[in-house]
Amino acid sequence: MSQQDDMLPRPLPSALTFELASRCSTTKARAATLNLPHGPVQLPMFMPVATQASLKGLTPKQLEETSCRLCLNNTYHLGLKPGQKTLDIIGGAHKLQSWPHNILTDSGGFQMVSLLKLAQVTEEGVRFLSPHDGSPMLLTPEHSISLQNSIGSDIIMQLDDVIATTSPDHERIKEAMHRSVRWLDRCIEAHKKPDSQNLFCIIQGGLDLDLRRECCKEMVARDTPGIAIGGLSGGEAKAEFCKVVDTCTGLLPTHKPRYVMGVGYPEDILVSVALGADMFDCVWPTRTARFGNAITDSGCFNLRHASYACDFGPIEEGCKCICCKPDSEGGLGITRAYIHHTASKETVGAHLLSMHNVHYLLNLMRRVREAIIEDRYPEFLRTHFKKLYSDDPPTWAVDALRGVGVDLLG
Ligand SMILES: [Zn+2]
Repeated sequence: MSQQDDMLPRPLPSALTFELASRCSTTKARAATLNLPHGPVQLPMFMPVATQASLKGLTPKQLEETSCRLCLNNTYHLGLKPGQKTLDIIGGAHKLQSWPHNILTDSGGFQMVSLLKLAQVTEEGVRFLSPHDGSPMLLTPEHSISLQNSIGSDIIMQLDDVIATTSPDHERIKEAMHRSVRWLDRCIEAHKKPDSQNLFCIIQGGLDLDLRRECCKEMVARDTPGIAIGGLSGGEAKAEFCKVVDTCTGLLPTHKPRYVMGVGYPEDILVSVALGADMFDCVWPTRTARFGNAITDSGCFNLRHASYACDFGPIEEGCKCICCKPDSEGGLGITRAYIHHTASKETVGAHLLSMHNVHYLLNLMRRVREAIIEDRYPEFLRTHFKKLYSDDPPTWAVDALRGVGVDLLG
């Protein structure tokens, strides 16, 4: 072994296998099976966010019925309640919520920086004041991994230094990228269960493509079982977002899952898949449900609007979710009028819409996967964008897809 090889980090054990099933012959889209400790999941996929070990408005059983087999839990929330000690006694988050399928946890860092105004990042970690009693606390890479080891999630995320892509402070973005690499090394060192939990690194670097390239090189060399592209969906222009995803996927190994964090709008997911990304998560489908919004193939519409008061059709015609399916097919046969009636007064309306919205996104991913396997993803994109935007698709999507050989205007 040369001295150079000697200096490279040891390869990390992996608790997953990635089987590539199909590649689109035009775009960079791929279909794969990701075998995780709690069963296989099909890529590309959308992962719903279950903040406190429960999806807002859905029981674990109802979440299971949407066909979800991998959901997100928040490390920050679980660390506060029930807390690490209780998690250790119970034996982790799967047991806590009676969830037999896979769980992915974030590092907790993003929650702190976004929720707690007084959070401060130093080389040691993220300093913040306890929301309970105001006492000073510190989240380090080691603490984040220790918490995630107690949660027992199938995929755990490194603690990274997250800066808004819209920040004008280039030096700070550069520092955050390098710090994220150093923190990954500390996470790898601290990880006690690499045989049962998969650590994903997070590529940072803001909108600077050179920084992203450098970060990809550093992170890929650490050989984590999966790779995330982080720091996006923070209000940057979508054209910039696409450039970052496209640049990163071009530098990542083909045999590892690629997760673009915080993406949930159908059109963003469809384009990201074409650019070579596999996994997505977002609170949007359930959050928007609480405002009465239904996600459908023809866009998002608000059922609180008076025009739905006497609309006795399902939320979306042909939808196979438990709410939309008629009684005769074992569904609830919920009508738009009923959601309209309950949406503003009762939580049940929001619960029903959450189920529909989560089902919608999971089903959309199934259709995407099928289209990739049958090598008709470009046609799928054209048809779907036509349904959403008629003959006027957004410029960012037209440009990004043109870059991978699909002409939305053709
Ligand atoms: Zn439905």
